Amino acid sequence: MKAFTIPEFYRSPVISKVKQFRKIQDPRKKDNSPTVLDFGPVIYYVARHFGFCYGVENAIEIAFRALEENPGKRLFLLSEMIHNPEVNKDLSERGVQFLQDTEGKQLISFDTITPADIVMIPAFGAPVPLVKMLEERGIHTENYNTTCPFVERVWKKSEQIGKTKHTIIIHGKNKHEETRSTFSRSELDSEAVVVVRDMEESKRLGVYLLGKKSQSEFEQEFQGKFSKGFDITKHFEKVGVINQTTMLATETQEIADYVKGLMVEKYGKEKIAVHFADTRDTLCYATNENQEATYGLLETDADLAIVVGGYNSSNTSHLAELCSRKFPTYFIESAGEIADKNTIHHFDYPTKKHLITSPFLPVKEPVKIILTSGASCPDAVLEGVIRRLNEFYSVRSTEEVVKHLQAVSS
Ligand code: SF4
Repeated sequence: MKAFTIPEFYRSPVISKVKQFRKIQDPRKKDNSPTVLDFGPVIYYVARHFGFCYGVENAIEIAFRALEENPGKRLFLLSEMIHNPEVNKDLSERGVQFLQDTEGKQLISFDTITPADIVMIPAFGAPVPLVKMLEERGIHTENYNTTCPFVERVWKKSEQIGKTKHTIIIHGKNKHEETRSTFSRSELDSEAVVVVRDMEESKRLGVYLLGKKSQSEFEQEFQGKFSKGFDITKHFEKVGVINQTTMLATETQEIADYVKGLMVEKYGKEKIAVHFADTRDTLCYATNENQEATYGLLETDADLAIVVGGYNSSNTSHLAELCSRKFPTYFIESAGEIADKNTIHHFDYPTKKHLITSPFLPVKEPVKIILTSGASCPDAVLEGVIRRLNEFYSVRSTEEVVKHLQAVSS
């Protein structure tokens, strides 16, 4: 995979050694068991895969290149480039301004932008009308377009199944930048588009797909989540499922299987190839790997899990969700959230509430802590969390620990 030039301050010598060790030990990425960092009184189970993905490194490289190539020019991002506060803060401190927030609320009027300015597209992409509007104003976005190629791959799939007149069902969060971008493309590609957030909502959609509820009920129940002119009597004849790349991979598959089952019920097995488009390959590799590695963490005897990433990061929230199935889990943005040995400030993604837990570390030694981070979290931030937690124990030196790295399975 391509190596990107990203600022050194996002890297971590310790984490780089951990990643290098696993790369040598498991070059084919077949082993999802975590790496053990044994500091003595505190042991970390570090996920097999975590941290910056291809799309995020690509975006960071482009953004820093834009800064370097355009001294004295005004630089804007349509919205947060990725969902990580540290990275967005770094860009902002270097003069990059954000035109919209993550939900599309205007922060700076488009009227103030001129063709002399640089406008960058975030890694999630941007809705088609927005890009068009900028182009009409003489602002070219193609030079510094940080859209992830894996998001573009989903758009290609949407185009393909739109051409065969399949209605597009997007498994995603309808306000998320990526889903808004994908929706705008799917709207152009296909006659009809609808967004479902999860399996529960898919089941509610299934009732309409089978013609058991009315158009007006659909419009009320799925308000803001379907394309203009969606007609449930004709737009559920042929369907395909694509996803926001950071959703739970297993859930996307469950939704696709569920919808396929409904189409079999409606049209019979022999006609399923016509009525259901197979879109299996729209899942992003990083989301898959990070989630699979999290299942590996669930096999351990850890006491708690700490998941690091931006609070608006969809992929990080899913890692926290998976960990919380077995362990007390704390979703934090950085080491700064660990106030002291007793108290941690963290985020509950389902309720969107900031919580304070005290105590959060069990009174025992060794305490075993799961560590992972989202695809937009710099390794340096994860290292900061290790250093912060280590302050509470009499630990072995990092050098000594790194010398004795091992994987749980070895
Ligand atoms: S998580 Fe996947 S789709 Fe999203 S930026 Fe990373 S590689 Fe791209």
